[in-house]
Amino acid sequence: MKDNPAVRPPTAANATMPAANFIRNLIDDDNRSGKWGGRVETRFPPEPNGYLHIGHAKSICLNFGLARDYGGICHLRFDDTNPEKENQEYVDTIIESVRWLGFDWGRNLHYASDYFDRLYELAEQLITRGHAYVDSLTAEEIRSLRGTLTEVGKNSPHRDRSINENLDLFRRMKAGDFADGEYVLRAKIDMSSPNINLRDPVIYRIRRAHHHRTGDRWSIYPMYDYTHCISDALERITHSICTLEFEDHRPLYDWVLDQLQDQVQCHPQQVEFARLNMTYTVTSKRKLMELVESSLVDGWDDPRMPTLVGMRRRGYTPQSIRLFTDRIGVSKSDSWIDMGLLEDCLRQDLNESAPRRIAVLRPLKLIIDNFPEGQVEECTAPNHPQNPEWGSRPVALSRVLYIEQEDFMEVPTKGYFRLSPGMEVRLRYAYIVKYVGLVKNDNGEIEEIHCTYDPDTKSGTPGAESRKVKGNIHWLSSLHACKSEVRIFDRLFVEPHPDSGGKDYKDSLNPHSREILSAYLEPSLSDALPEELFQFERNGYFIADRVESKPGRPIFNRAVTLRDSWGKSS
Ligand code: ATP
Ligand code: MG
Repeated sequence: MKDNPAVRPPTAANATMPAANFIRNLIDDDNRSGKWGGRVETRFPPEPNGYLHIGHAKSICLNFGLARDYGGICHLRFDDTNPEKENQEYVDTIIESVRWLGFDWGRNLHYASDYFDRLYELAEQLITRGHAYVDSLTAEEIRSLRGTLTEVGKNSPHRDRSINENLDLFRRMKAGDFADGEYVLRAKIDMSSPNINLRDPVIYRIRRAHHHRTGDRWSIYPMYDYTHCISDALERITHSICTLEFEDHRPLYDWVLDQLQDQVQCHPQQVEFARLNMTYTVTSKRKLMELVESSLVDGWDDPRMPTLVGMRRRGYTPQSIRLFTDRIGVSKSDSWIDMGLLEDCLRQDLNESAPRRIAVLRPLKLIIDNFPEGQVEECTAPNHPQNPEWGSRPVALSRVLYIEQEDFMEVPTKGYFRLSPGMEVRLRYAYIVKYVGLVKNDNGEIEEIHCTYDPDTKSGTPGAESRKVKGNIHWLSSLHACKSEVRIFDRLFVEPHPDSGGKDYKDSLNPHSREILSAYLEPSLSDALPEELFQFERNGYFIADRVESKPGRPIFNRAVTLRDSWGKSS
C-alpha cells in the first residue's frame, strides 16, 4: 500500500468530534445574537522569522479548525513588519507546513506588508485627529519615562507638538530624511494608565532595512500592536485568537480600532488562549534557531526537532498532530503537556494505518543446523493483523538467519523467555527452534548461534500451534535481507523542563538522541517511497526518510516506539 499521509481518509483515530471550549461557546453566543451575521473568520498570523513548531500547530489547528467547523474561513497572514529578521525561505516553509497539516486558506493568503500604504494613511489620520505624535527621544529615554507597574509614566517633552509639525516630521520619516532611531511615531493615549501598553506606545519606527517583499521602498515600519489589529479589521476577521501574553495588549488593540472606526468599519474581537508548553522540548523560535545555528542539530528539519518540518521527517503524520491538538483542547490557563501524549497520538494513528514489515536492527547470526544449505522455504506474514483484507506477503526462510542481538542471552535473567541455552522459541511465522550452541570470536563476542528446528511446528499448519513456547522472535533470511541505514531517535532533551528555572536548555541535551544502525530489512522494503510509513514488528514505527533516501535504497527513521517505555530501562 502506497501511503500518502496528507490525503488519507478519516479513520477512527483521526476523526474526532470537536470538544466544547470557551472559544466555541463564545462563537455560539455570537451566532445566537447575530453579532457577526453568522460569519466566522479567523486567521493564523505567523511572523516569517523562523520555522513553525508544535506550538504553532496548536494555533493552526484551532484557527483553521474553527473555520472548518463553523463553515467559515481562516486566513494565512504573514506578520512581516520586522524586515531584518524575516525572509522568503521562512514564508515558503510556513506555507508548506500549514498545507501539510491539511489546511487550506483558499484565496486568503495575506501579508501585513500588503497593507503598508493603508497603515501609513491611517497613521496620518491618527496624527490629524490628535491621537499620535512624533517623538525625538531615544529608545532609552522613552523607556526611562515609561514608569513601572507601581509608578506612572511621564509625558515626553515632545508630546504636544502641533498636528502640522507632527505630519511634517512623519512625512519626512517616510521620505528617509532621518537616521534610524532619530524619531518614532507614538500613539497619544495615557502616560498614567495602569496598563503600560497604553503609555503612548511606539507605533512606527525608522529602519532602513531591505524588506523581502517591499524591497527598499520603506524606511519606516509599523509596530506589531498597531499593524495586527488593523490587518485583522481590513480582512474583516471576526475572532482574532492569540496566546495569553497578548491579554494586556487587548486594550491597545481596541483603542487603535476605536480611533479609526470610521476608516476600517470592522472591530474584530481579540480572544486569548493558553499557549502549548510541552515537556522534553523547547518551543521558542529563538532557541530553536540557536540549536540550528550552533549545529547542535542538523538543521530545522532534523527529525529530533519539534518543528513541523522536523516532525514530518521523523514520521509524524498530519493526522496524529491534529489528533493531539484535539486531545489537549484549549483553555485559559497555562499548563504543561507531556510529550508522551503526542507520541501516543502517533502510535494510535500508525497502529491503524501502517503496514507491518520485518527489520532486524542489531543483527546476530542464527544458523539452523538441520536446515539444508541452499534450501529456501516460503513463510507467510500478514500485512496488518487487524486488517486481513490488506493481505499477506511471502517471507523467505533459509539456513542462515539474522535475529536481534537482544533476542539471545547466554545467561538469561529471570523472566527472559527468548532464546538462550536450553530454551526453545518460535521463529515468528515459521518454526520452533532449539538452542544448540554458539561461536565466539577471539574477543569473546558472540558471532553466531546454532540451533535446530522442528519441522512439525510450522506456523499455520495443523497441530503446529499446539506446542506452546513462551518466546516468539522475528528474523530475516541472510540470503534475502537487504542492508540499510536505520536511525533510532530519542528525545532531544533529558529534562522534562529544559528551559525552566534559569537553566541553560543546552545543558539538558540528550547525548544519545540519535543512533545510526546498519540494519537488515525484508526485501520488499527496498522499494519504499520517501515518507512511506511502516511498523517494523516489535521495533516500532518507521518512515522512509524524505530527504536522504535514494531510489531502491531507503533510509529509515524511527518515528516512535511501539509502547511508551521512555525513562524505563529496557
Ligand atoms: P515570536 O513572535 O517571538 O517570533 P511566536 O512563536 O509568537 O514567536 P509567531 O510567528 O508570532 O511566533 O506565532 C504565530 C502564532 O502562533 C501566534 O498567534 C502565536 O500566538 C501562536 N503561537 C506561537 N507559539 C505558540 C504556542 N506554544 N502555543 C500556541 N500558539 C502559539
Ligand atoms: Mg508572536
